[in-house]
Amino acid sequence: MKSLTIGQILNDYREHLKKSEIDELKSIQRQPSSFSAQAEELHRVLFDEETDFMNDSNADAHDRARGINPMSQEYTNRVNKKRIAFGVTPLSESGYARDNSSKEFCKEVVRFTKNYKEYRERKRKNAKQVVYVDMDGVLVNFQSGIDKISQEDKEKYGPNDFDEVPGIFSLMEPNEGAIEGYKWLSENFDTYILSTASWNNPSAWKDKLLWVQKYLPEVAYKRLILSHNKHLAKGDFLIDDRTKNGAGEFLGKHIHFGSESPQDFADWKAVVAYLKKLA
Ligand SMILES: [Mg+2]
Repeated sequence: MKSLTIGQILNDYREHLKKSEIDELKSIQRQPSSFSAQAEELHRVLFDEETDFMNDSNADAHDRARGINPMSQEYTNRVNKKRIAFGVTPLSESGYARDNSSKEFCKEVVRFTKNYKEYRERKRKNAKQVVYVDMDGVLVNFQSGIDKISQEDKEKYGPNDFDEVPGIFSLMEPNEGAIEGYKWLSENFDTYILSTASWNNPSAWKDKLLWVQKYLPEVAYKRLILSHNKHLAKGDFLIDDRTKNGAGEFLGKHIHFGSESPQDFADWKAVVAYLKKLA
């Protein structure tokens, strides 16, 4: 998925747009609405092929049910070319959206265009966007703790329950670039730590606090939240290496950290470079 502004789409992707779509994009640019309204409007203008099935005749609907797209090949090729140019998944064989990548793309366009109601309001009040940062695998190098426990504990808790080893979190070291990255975030965003501590390991709750006090004493002072329900946290960004404990349902942007990140947030350098454009 690409991160583009409306202006960039109008300048660099014109070949994929009809005249009416260009006009509508310009009108969205002129009249900024709320984040969600703007994302929905963009989606309607840029990806209207996803609602083609609503106009199906009975014969068309029958085709679609059998996995045949009733729209012409020429049309399908054209919309798929556009989707690929935006980094959005092409339509399925029967002409449906395969996933929510087009919706995510539109939200990203709103974010990067920075011309929505909430953003302007925040600028006016001089307020910052809210960012949550996960601990294990993001701030904290989990493996560095595993490396330091006894052979006995390795056998007792491995390979799936290392987070239940008493005291393991106090042994862990920061990930590369994490401390500098968090410090940069705390200057440019309203930044909090949002982590889950193992329910079966009470020492983890204490050790996570001690870890934050040791490595981020001033910048994260009273900014540690421990929760199994990350989706309830209200904010703009969540930097997390997994989708568990509500991270995947977070209502802002989930910056999926680590080597398996689909959007290439492989390390702290990549995350800071991305958020620099949105601060
Ligand atoms: Mg994690």
